[in-house]
Amino acid sequence: MIDIYLREEFYAYDAFHITKAFFPEEEIKQHIGEEREKLLVIEKEGAPLVELDEAELESLSDSVLKKQKKSFVNKKIYKELCKYTGKELAWGILTGVRPTKLAMKKVEEGCTDAEAENWFRENYMVTKKKAALSVEIAKREKALLERLDYKNGYSLYVGIPFCPTICSYCSFSSYPLHEWKEKVDAYLDALCKEITFVGKVSKDKKLNTVYIGGGTPTTLEPEQLDRLLTHMESTFSYEDLQEFTVEAGRPDSITREKLEVLRKHHISRISVNPQTMQQKTLDVIGRKHTVQDVVDIFYMARELGFDNINMDLIAGLTGEHLSDMRHTLQQIRELSPDSLTVHSLAIKRAARLGRTEGYREQISEAEELSQMIELAAEYAKEMDLFPYYLYRQKNIAGNFENVGYAKVDKAGIYNILIMEEKQSIVAVGAGASTKIVLPKGKEIPDQKTGDLKNIVRVENVKDVKEYIARIDEMIERKGEWLWR
Ligand code: SF4
Repeated sequence: MIDIYLREEFYAYDAFHITKAFFPEEEIKQHIGEEREKLLVIEKEGAPLVELDEAELESLSDSVLKKQKKSFVNKKIYKELCKYTGKELAWGILTGVRPTKLAMKKVEEGCTDAEAENWFRENYMVTKKKAALSVEIAKREKALLERLDYKNGYSLYVGIPFCPTICSYCSFSSYPLHEWKEKVDAYLDALCKEITFVGKVSKDKKLNTVYIGGGTPTTLEPEQLDRLLTHMESTFSYEDLQEFTVEAGRPDSITREKLEVLRKHHISRISVNPQTMQQKTLDVIGRKHTVQDVVDIFYMARELGFDNINMDLIAGLTGEHLSDMRHTLQQIRELSPDSLTVHSLAIKRAARLGRTEGYREQISEAEELSQMIELAAEYAKEMDLFPYYLYRQKNIAGNFENVGYAKVDKAGIYNILIMEEKQSIVAVGAGASTKIVLPKGKEIPDQKTGDLKNIVRVENVKDVKEYIARIDEMIERKGEWLWR
């Protein structure tokens, strides 16, 4: 058990997340506002690991902004915990999930690579390797995003929250199709109504990218897919559309007929996601398809003319080791997808380990996971796939990241937009979260922190039945922000 004693709530969020990154398996309790001699104390089983006196902060000049004081506190925690654990965190004191957004600022300010990397290292204590990766990706993102007109453009996300079965590690709100089959048409009715509304109020805007995700969009029957895509075609102008992705996802949901429907509607990018090419793992994680299904569907899509296919992999699935990852990557290399996204499943792995093994073993497991991620990067390079987007997960053991790699000109623009938060993304469907980027000078206070921000989120209800029943309310909520 770790206790964090803090006089001010202002430092609490970062103190918690930095400590958690060092001790993912430990329960952490925060005591805010308690009368203690020190400004901050972090204890493990009652023994102090970090102590910070008010005087240390007072030595900073009065003109130092609160934000810089926070940075001082964070660095102090980080250095002390590095000393105690004997390890460094790849992403240093960075607690946010979008490192490239920070790197992008520096790139846009005209910094050289070295300047941007040094700034990243000094301010966030990230390793040289991660600083270089972030700057490399930011530069690539910048080049891709320059094609877009943020001010007049927007992107659209359409959510289909059904899956053939539910994977054991699923953290999305998805519903098993066999239990919800009867509701799918009613869901599509509501979805089309929401789409009609968005189309109507967005007539003066340019639609730049569309992403149909979920869940698994290809759980829809061919006629249902056709109905949805036809409705979208009659609602929006695709004149400025740069990318249309359908996350076909699970091979057990894809058929030739469905792929033909996608081709008919000019879908430019699809995902066929194996997650792993180990049959033993697929069997235990609840995905009812075989490795051969992945291969067959991939080649079927190629044969039908899809020239931008993404594949998702997960490092750290139950029972997998470095050799499994290598074997998976060898098979992926044979297929040669146009992009590859590598996720790390560190949270659940750590939780599982936390129940059964000691701290040292957990570190070595985290090291193996790190090696899997490195191996994926090596194979991606061999396949001529370059890193083009990156995000981190909260509370991730070992502080790992998820990286998207793509061939030149095959990067998923929508993925970059999600990370960089430069363009509004209007999201329709159950559980979909619209993100509106307000025009310059129109910031609003964040409900939690009170800080001014230029992003407004409008969330739809997650429950499918609620979504259908309350569709008019969902539309009304969106209407309050589109396009103020
Ligand atoms: S395919 Fe994705 S959304 Fe569906 S159950 Fe598996 S993890 Fe969840």
